Amino acid sequence: MEASRSPPPKRRREDDERDTPLNVSSGQEFTKSADLWMEDGNIILLCHSVGFRVHRGVLALHSSVLRDMFSIIAPAEDQIFDGCVVVTLHDAVEDLLLLLKTLYFRRFAQTKSKFRLQTLRRLLEMARKYMVDDLLDEIKDYLRLIFPSTLTVYRSQYRLESLCQDLDPMVGVEIAMEFDFPIIRPAAPYMSSLIRLETRLDGFKSSDGSRSPQLVDVLRPVFVFERNLREHMEDDEHNDRWYEERTCENKALSDLRDEFCPGLPAWLLSYARRWRHNLSADIFLDGYSELDEVCDKCISKLREMEGELSSSLWSVLPMLDRGSGWSDWRSIPQ
Ligand SMILES: [Zn+2]
Repeated sequence: MEASRSPPPKRRREDDERDTPLNVSSGQEFTKSADLWMEDGNIILLCHSVGFRVHRGVLALHSSVLRDMFSIIAPAEDQIFDGCVVVTLHDAVEDLLLLLKTLYFRRFAQTKSKFRLQTLRRLLEMARKYMVDDLLDEIKDYLRLIFPSTLTVYRSQYRLESLCQDLDPMVGVEIAMEFDFPIIRPAAPYMSSLIRLETRLDGFKSSDGSRSPQLVDVLRPVFVFERNLREHMEDDEHNDRWYEERTCENKALSDLRDEFCPGLPAWLLSYARRWRHNLSADIFLDGYSELDEVCDKCISKLREMEGELSSSLWSVLPMLDRGSGWSDWRSIPQ
């Protein structure tokens, strides 16, 4: 906004008007927000010298904090501009704008997946601060979809199509901790365990090249979860009932080839097991894929075994995180 003091040539008149510093009667300077300045607004929210001219009634309808704030307001005579009371708020300008746009423009935040998780976290923070309860519920519903408590939802097409862009699951862990929202916690550290170690330490890199800040407080629970997950898989999968060897009736793989299906011998199963333990893919969504020489029946058998293993693993995810089961988290209102 400071740049407006030396405007480039050929600016549009509206731009000039918008950027010209205005004064509250006290002499305090501000500029009109380019995004939210309603001529018929009856209150001005002043945030770091940017003014948002909005409607008292609309904001009071959504936010009980603003409603209370407005009801006790006794404006000093010098906190008036153009007949509107000027209320100073101390949020970051972009955070307040994010909240106001969400409240004013119906479609703005309807599709949560178009935002980065970091942005939703900021919106959640604003919704909590100003007690915009409907918005709080809405964002939490979305987070329950992204970091679900059931494997069925986790695998659902609807969820996969709803994931936010450049999803950094470590932010999910951060949100769970910051907003006391444990139901999303087991899936979030699991998804974080799939991120490369270097990325976890350096901060997540988005597709536009920007890097999110390192989430130091989140690293510990994520590392502990990953260690527990690996240990659990090691113990669990040494149990022979998973990865059972299978002989095949040596059916030819195709009429044109002489090769026969090797079945699911121990060596192949040990590769499949190692593939899972490496966590280099999402083991709840994918299965071991180096199966060119194996017949369809044997592949189905392997998928069945992997499916059983995944269901069993999903059921203990919360215990790998903080020692409680799914039912404990589901029973807490959050
Ligand atoms: Zn076979």
